[in-house]
Amino acid sequence: MLRRLHFGGAATRSDLVAATGFNRSTVGSLVSDLATAGLVRERPGVVRGKGRPSNVVEPVPTSVHVLAFDVTPSSVGAARVGFGGYMLQVRRRLHTTTSHDVGNVVELIATLAREMDARAVPGSVCLGLVVSVPGSVHQPDGVVRRSPPLGWHEVPLADLLRTATGGRYPVTVGNDGDLGAVAEYLRGAARGEPDLLYVRGEVGVGGGVVVDGELLKGAGGYAGEVGHIVVKPNGRVCSCGARGCWEAEIGDAAFIRAVGRDPRESEIEDVVSDVAIGNRRAIAGVRKTGEWVGIGLASLVNVFNPRVVVLGGTLGALYPTMEPTLHAAFARALGPIREQALLLRSELAGDAQIVGAAEVAFADVLEDPLGTLETRRAEIADDPPERKLRHA
Ligand SMILES: [Zn+2]
Repeated sequence: MLRRLHFGGAATRSDLVAATGFNRSTVGSLVSDLATAGLVRERPGVVRGKGRPSNVVEPVPTSVHVLAFDVTPSSVGAARVGFGGYMLQVRRRLHTTTSHDVGNVVELIATLAREMDARAVPGSVCLGLVVSVPGSVHQPDGVVRRSPPLGWHEVPLADLLRTATGGRYPVTVGNDGDLGAVAEYLRGAARGEPDLLYVRGEVGVGGGVVVDGELLKGAGGYAGEVGHIVVKPNGRVCSCGARGCWEAEIGDAAFIRAVGRDPRESEIEDVVSDVAIGNRRAIAGVRKTGEWVGIGLASLVNVFNPRVVVLGGTLGALYPTMEPTLHAAFARALGPIREQALLLRSELAGDAQIVGAAEVAFADVLEDPLGTLETRRAEIADDPPERKLRHA
């Protein structure tokens, strides 16, 4: 029932009876428990026809919140997300250097976390701090094993953040592709589709696979590194050191080169604006690259048989331009699989990683609302505000 409210927003008691299959008195007593815990509130419904209106139950965005971060090669995005998925506060800081020094990034996240948490309504319980990074993340310890776009190797990011924030929050670190896939499944273009493939094109190319409603993790938690499937044996050297990876053919640098620009001097935004003003060379370059997007997707759908393929980042932005060549190459996928797969642009675009990160931290409260709240409140009581200031 709480899931229905968190993802679907306000609902009447009658809607909740229909959605859960519980009877009215069970729904009534659950609503009352959740209202006592502060997670939901009730207001009188609108009278429709005869009879008493059904009360409307809605999530309380300021009851619990999450601090969500998206580290990319150019910036750190941050948001305080309230229950029900409401973005209560959004921040974005550009990196001041291109070195992505781990210490600077950790300090920036800790500062943003402090600022945003201080703005939360008193009494709102912070469920955790979750960070998305473009790299392979070992679970559950949150060590970034390798992130070519950031130049990081074996960075114990979760531990560093716990220390920098004085142990105030449960900290989770996730892969950007995995979090994007979760976000598109729960709140984006693939809402309600339990089998989906998400591919995000940026400097690097990440991805995530949801199978039967569960994120595919793999033996080490690294599954879904779609950017490093080999598509061109004698192709360019990839950021991972191998040759001919998909990322080397469809990452931002590949698009920039394909439109006749120099990746050292141009940004992907230049490609997007060239295309927007109808520059023929740019359109042809993007279409040529689109063929490689289709080639990789054909192999991936053959393996995973997704109902929906969601393209995010640069791939989502340029999808309408590369559609003809992408589809022609995608036709190599097996017929029965291809016919089932719907190619869509991300609906969440640049917010996908933040949204996915937030949902990771909301998962416990949706699973066990009262128990999770009790545990977090006890942890916070052990670390009162005076001590928090000393940590700061
Ligand atoms: Zn690679």
